[in-house]
Amino acid sequence: MKEIAQILREKGLKVTPQRIAVYNMLCNTKEHPDAETIYKTLEPTNPTMSLATVYKTLDFFKQLGLVQELNVGEGRSRYDADVDWHPHTVCTCCGQVGDLHLEALKNVSQKLAPELDFEVEMEQLILYGKCSECRKK
Ligand code: ZN
Ligand code: MN
Repeated sequence: MKEIAQILREKGLKVTPQRIAVYNMLCNTKEHPDAETIYKTLEPTNPTMSLATVYKTLDFFKQLGLVQELNVGEGRSRYDADVDWHPHTVCTCCGQVGDLHLEALKNVSQKLAPELDFEVEMEQLILYGKCSECRKK
């Protein structure tokens, strides 16, 4: 995988420690954190970075298509550095957001197209339920 600094440089965009920190943090987590969580995680190592900068940086990466925004109905956005289309699971008990990389779910709207009197422009699939940890309780 390419280094984020290299990707930004090739696009002629400024490489800042904040941009690198935010992107790398998102690449190294499967938690789908929101801006506040990203901010709190990076605060100890990036004490001068503000929450506003985190929001601006996330928006910057979103515009570049390097990060996707995910809204599962919590009134705030979560972020994912995995920009390939994939469905998500949301635990209604603990709030955990997970990835579903299932071949059968890919291009669902395309597969259903003959039966749909609807032209799909955007596709998002979220399954709500209980995660394995919460089912044990
Ligand atoms: Zn759970
Ligand atoms: Mn994901």
